[in-house]
Order: sequence, then structure tokens, then C-alpha cells
Amino acid sequence: MRHNGFAFALAFASVLGALFVAACSAAGRVEVVTTTVQVAALAREVTKGTPVQVLSLVGPGVDPHEYEVSPGDVQQVGAAKLVLRSGIGLDAFLDRALTSSGQKRVATVTEGIKLRQIRTEQGKTEDDPHVWHDPANDRVMVENIVKALGATFPEQAATFQKNGSTYAAKLDATDAQIRQIIGAIPAANRKMVTDHDAFGYFLDRYGLPFVGAVIPNVSTQGDTSAKQIAELQDTVKREGVKAIFSEESVDPRIAREIAKDTNVQIVADLYGDSLGKPGSGQETVDGMLLYNARRIAEALK
Ligand SMILES: [Zn+2]
Repeated sequence: MRHNGFAFALAFASVLGALFVAACSAAGRVEVVTTTVQVAALAREVTKGTPVQVLSLVGPGVDPHEYEVSPGDVQQVGAAKLVLRSGIGLDAFLDRALTSSGQKRVATVTEGIKLRQIRTEQGKTEDDPHVWHDPANDRVMVENIVKALGATFPEQAATFQKNGSTYAAKLDATDAQIRQIIGAIPAANRKMVTDHDAFGYFLDRYGLPFVGAVIPNVSTQGDTSAKQIAELQDTVKREGVKAIFSEESVDPRIAREIAKDTNVQIVADLYGDSLGKPGSGQETVDGMLLYNARRIAEALK
């Protein structure tokens, strides 16, 4: 009886042990942590067909400018084999997680991108962090991700390379499609008013003149004064602006107010700082860029 009990205990212990190992390897599958959804989406393209799982700290529809790390995030960052960050001040929230977790394996995927400058309210200039709105910049990010992942998981390096080239070709095709879509907008209708200064790289690449922002700041945190609202309303009327564009992850109240008072339409669902939910078609960077291009072209035709 005692003997049987011991055998049972042993068997039980080994079942528990197996369960423990299974649970650990399931949890251990998230090996790459990114700060933003755009970096995660690019990293998922690069890791396709490999066991490497990618997790983004900021989720879809969440504003990265307002993000604060949770204790769970610090744990994820500490446990990761590699952390991929966007940089350029957008994900400064990661710094605290790196310090508290002691994590050192970090790559900044926007390295080497030629940054555009943005003017702040105080008249200073700042680097614009919204680089993913230009497919040429996304190609640079993909290259950086391929390199960082290859150094961390050398056994998968060839697959990362192959996936990186495939996605670079997709970005080129997307770029050509967007040129066609935006090219069909009459030149006089192209004036853009957006919610915050998120679309500079897109506007620069495709020749859309920017005439004003609802939140005159590189972040979504700026305050808009009554004077600024009045000025923007004047601009909208004077320039014959066709539409005001707001974003999925930003509260569109002021944008709606300006649109209503100037009697122009509002498009409140562009992807500025976020991507779509899985299955929406806009959970990829290429899908998001095409979606934005189509929404802009529809509104300005
Ligand atoms: Zn932003």
C-alpha cells in the first residue's frame, strides 16, 4: 500500500513536471518583445514560418504617446531574448522597463532612417518619430529587424533573410499602388488637415500638402486653444480644404467640432499611431498604408 502510494506520488510528480515544462515552453515562446504595433507587425513578417513569437507592449488602437508600462510589461521585457524598439522618443516608456528588468538585448529598428523635422509650438524643431508611414523607411526597419533577429537566433537567420526580401518586395508594390491611388486626386483637392502631426512622412512621399493639425504637436498630448481652433477654421475655409482627417487612436472631438463649424467632412478612422486588429486587413503595415491611401483619396476626390 505504502509502496503503491509512493509510485503514485512519483507518477504524479512526473505528470506535474511534464505540465510545468509544457507551460514554461508555451510561455517561453514569446521571445521577442516590441514596443509598438508597427515594429511587431514588421517583425511578424520577418519571423513567418519560424517558432519565434512576437509580442507588442502597446496593443492595437492604443496611443503610444500616452503609454505607461505595467509590472507585467517589465516582466515580459526582462524575459525576452530580444527587445525591438521604435525609438526617436516615441517609446521612451521602455527605458524604465529596461532599467527595472536589467534587460540589455535591445535593438532600435529605425536606425539609419533619414528623419524629417517637425516644428514644435515653442518654435523649436524635433525629429518626427512616425517613420512607418513611408514604405522606404519600413524597408530600412525590416533590414534592421532581420539583422537583430539573425544575431539572436542564428539557426533561423536564412529564413529571416528570405522573409525580409519577400516583405521588402511587398512594400515596393504597396508604394506603387499608393502612388496610383493618391495620383488620382485632383491637385487642388490635396490639402491635408490631420489630427496630430503623424502623417508627415506619408504626405512628403506622395505629394500631399499639409495645411494644419488639430493638435499642433508631434505628440497627441498638446492642448488646442480656442485661438488655434479659430485659426484652423480660417485656414480650412481659405484653403478650400475638403476634409479633416482624424485617427482611430485619438479622440476626434475637436476635429469633429472644426469639421462641423466649417461644413467639411471628417474622416475619423485613419491609422496614425496604430494598426488594425488581427483579421481587419490593417494589422499589417502594408495593409494600413493602403487603407489610409484609399480613405484619403475617397474623401478628397
Ligand atoms: Zn503620434
